[in-house]
Amino acid sequence: MSAYDSDNIFAKILRDEIPSTRVYEDDDTLAFMDIMPRADGHLLVIPKTPCRNLLDATPAQLEAVMRTVQKLAQASKAAFDADGVTIQQFNEAAGGQEVFHLHFHVLPRHEGVPLRPAGQMGDMDAIAQHAEKIRAAL
Ligand code: 5GP
Repeated sequence: MSAYDSDNIFAKILRDEIPSTRVYEDDDTLAFMDIMPRADGHLLVIPKTPCRNLLDATPAQLEAVMRTVQKLAQASKAAFDADGVTIQQFNEAAGGQEVFHLHFHVLPRHEGVPLRPAGQMGDMDAIAQHAEKIRAAL
């Protein structure tokens, strides 16, 4: 497995070198909106310390991230009055990973509504409104 690259896009988001729409953070984790949302409220949870993915994460990183994933899953389900929540996590390119800093996708879901296709830029005003709804539910 390759080494962690500290120039990956989420490392830059953590350092505030590129903008992001943050919804929650604590000492160990950050949650922010995905810019190509596959569902309204689609967000990402990452550790603040470096690791590529599940395969090299420490138990402490996983514990911290999963606590925040659960918190944001509950908040986003409430914010969107969703019927369920999908959690996605990909490891290495062959596993579907595109950004090599551990992240979990949190996707509020409604009965019978499929995910939108990947790779489509979202409307930034709508994303900001969705972030505000999630913050309010936290
Ligand atoms: P994965 O590595 O899990 O396959 O996908 C990476 C995710 O990061 C995608 O859902 C993509 O939309 C999201 N993403 C890629 N670049 C950026 C960015 O610059 N900002 C934000 N907020 N999300 C991004």
